[in-house]
Amino acid sequence: MVRFAERSSHHVFLEPESHESDWVYCNGIATSLPRDVQDAVVRGMPGCSRAHILMYGYAVEYDMVRPHQIHATTMTRLVDGLFLAGQINGTSGYEEAGGQGWLAGLNAARFATDVEPITLGRDLAYIGVMLDDLVTRTPVEPYRMFTSRAEYRLLLRADNTADRLTPLAREWGTISDERWTRYRVREARIEHLNTALDAARIDGKPLRDVVRRPEFTAADLARILNEQADRALTTVLADRQYEGYIARQRAEIKRQAAMETRRIPGDIDFHAISGLRKEAAEALTRFRPDTLGQAGRLAGVNPADMTLLVVILDRRRRESA
Ligand SMILES: Cc1cc2nc3c(=O)[nH]c(=O)nc-3n(C[C@H](O)[C@H](O)[C@H](O)COP(=O)(O)OP(=O)(O)OC[C@H]3O[C@@H](n4cnc5c(N)ncnc54)[C@H](O)[C@@H]3O)c2cc1C
Repeated sequence: MVRFAERSSHHVFLEPESHESDWVYCNGIATSLPRDVQDAVVRGMPGCSRAHILMYGYAVEYDMVRPHQIHATTMTRLVDGLFLAGQINGTSGYEEAGGQGWLAGLNAARFATDVEPITLGRDLAYIGVMLDDLVTRTPVEPYRMFTSRAEYRLLLRADNTADRLTPLAREWGTISDERWTRYRVREARIEHLNTALDAARIDGKPLRDVVRRPEFTAADLARILNEQADRALTTVLADRQYEGYIARQRAEIKRQAAMETRRIPGDIDFHAISGLRKEAAEALTRFRPDTLGQAGRLAGVNPADMTLLVVILDRRRRESA
């Protein structure tokens, strides 16, 4: 027993596969143990003592690149112009592969036409969180993009995806004119709703204060403003209800922004920096982070190492000026 050794029971969901057969999928037994062990496990479950296994569990093995071998653009460090996406980068999942595939395709096209590659910030998109994790953390198991991995979850909401990414997608040339037009309509509607909300009062109180109550719903807002409870209205309400927390997250992002994107020259010899701890120099040499933001998230690099790194970068900048 390796995982959950302390537990005395484990749930397995028996899911009928079809109306036409008596096949049952045992959801919850991920295993590649030998067949006789799998037989014993299945037959040991209540109600399954006479079950036959039609397809045994098996392991899928594949090679992967390590985090220090790719950039957050998905381009390999070793071969310029070679972009990798999906399981080969250590992830598991359709969405994970799809997200990286989109970025890899876009950056490959940009590379081929001599345009700067793009990366997405952790505060902008889950794809950004995923790529940043992939280049700064050595995975101990296949990486899955859980929402809990994002520190700015209040900004990365499903309802505001279009607002976060459509203007950028327009710039990158990855959306149609039709989609852009639809976005501009949404943008105008959000502005209209915000103006109406700010102007409205209810029982003498400003509506913008009233909407902050957690029990206040989109239907309430629609009724009061005499508007449709559409997606734009949901976003406007969410932005108002989380306003305080969102402001705090934005302030934090702003505080870190300069550090986040400041580039680390590729030729720095970290071992030659006096005062830098050996563990930090090793992590930095191994991962070769492109930015200070990435460097700060490496295991083995602490805030004191970061302070020293900033001093060294400042000195280099002064010397080359
Ligand atoms: C049984 C099973 C169930 C799963 N269930 C889920 C699930 O429910 N939800 C989920 O999100 N994920 C699930 N996954 C994981 C998900 O399928 C993978 O993580 C995802 O498909 C990986 O996509 P990819 O593009 O990186 O790789 P792949 O989809 O494996 O694509 C790699 C492609 O490269 C081709 N290829 C390999 N070598 C060469 C070569 N030399 N030349 C040319 N082509 C080559 C292969 O034929 C393949 O088409 C499951 C995986 C398995 C095995």
